[in-house]
Order: sequence, then C-alpha cells, then structure tokens
Amino acid sequence: MRLFIACELPEELTEALATTSAELRECVRGRYCAPDTFHVTLAFLGEVPATRVEEIAQLMEGALAGTHAFTATLAELGHFGKSADATLWQGFADPSPFRRLSTAVRGALASADVPFESQTFRPHVTLMRRANLARAGQLPVPCVERGLVSRVTLFSSVLSPDGPTYTPLATVELA
Ligand code: ATP
Ligand code: MG
Repeated sequence: MRLFIACELPEELTEALATTSAELRECVRGRYCAPDTFHVTLAFLGEVPATRVEEIAQLMEGALAGTHAFTATLAELGHFGKSADATLWQGFADPSPFRRLSTAVRGALASADVPFESQTFRPHVTLMRRANLARAGQLPVPCVERGLVSRVTLFSSVLSPDGPTYTPLATVELA
C-alpha cells in the first residue's frame, strides 16, 4: 500500500484554499487538487506491506501523544519544480508547529525501521500539479485565513489518471 501521514485541515483553511484555487483557475493551466483532499504531508512512506499498517498507526499515535492542536495561518504561494511543470502550493506563516509534528512522526518511523522519504520538510498544501507557471499571468494574492489544526491521519493513496484517492486508515486527535 502507498502510505503517507498528514495533517487534515479545518473547514476555515480548506475554504480559503479553495477560494485561492478557484482564482488560480482563471490564470494557470494544470491539474487541480480537489479541496476535499487538501492536507499537509508530514511523512511520505510510499509502498509498505499492508501487514505493517497497524504497527505504523501505533507509532504515529505514540509519537503524537500529548501533542497540542495549534492555530495555523496561511501565507504565500510557492512552487516546487520547473516553472513550466510545477507543483504549486500555499504555505504557512509559521512552519514550526508542523515541523515539530513531522520530526516526532519521522523519528518514530526511523526508530522502528519504517522507511520514508527523508527530504527536507517544507510544510505546504498542494493546490495544483503540472502547473504551467511559465505561461501564467500574474498569480492572485492568496486568501489568508487562520484555523485550528487538530487531526493527523495515516492515509493510503491509490493513484489513477483522474487523480489520487486517499483513504484514512487511522487518525490522532491532538489535545
Ligand atoms: P499524484 O501523485 O497523482 O500527483 P499525489 O501526489 O497527491 O497525487 P501521492 O503521490 O500518493 O498522491 O502523494 C501523497 C502525498 O505525499 C502528497 O501530499 C504528496 O505531495 C506527498 N508525496 C508524494 N511523493 C512524495 C515524495 N517522494 N516525497 C515527499 N512527499 C511525497
Ligand atoms: Mg505524487
């Protein structure tokens, strides 16, 4: 199974991100992410045997026990990759609470020899993939909103040409 661990987002943030995404549609071509799939990936595990799911859910729960929910404020747009074929995202004013969660989760995975992508953590919400920014006009000023981040979920991901389907397998409610 293809697995990742991510923060889910409260309605206030999802709505603001969806508004920004709708404005982007006016000026950027690419593949838009559905608002009901918006999330902040903390750790990407990739293919893992289904027999390890229970263990991974417990590692996630242990790593986050006693961790508090926090208010996150949306910030600027940014992109990864080439401007003609980019992943376009919106970031946060203060990445540090997300970084603490990611460090805790990744530490627990590492201590149990569960492999994950160890690239530098840059908390973001992906709005578009395959975005052609080279041919885009002026990007809109993104909506900025605050909301309480209180859920971390282990998801499975099934890829398809119509976009990925994420299925929640286990969730931690932050204190
Ligand atoms: P698609 O791959 O069809 O564009 P997707 O990227 O949303 O869809 P997945 O590839 O399953 O679906 O990724 C799930 C989450 O993990 C996404 O937030 C994605 O950005 C992140 N992710 C995927 N691959 C990696 C990777 N190699 N390193 C870090 N994060 C990754
Ligand atoms: Mg992907």
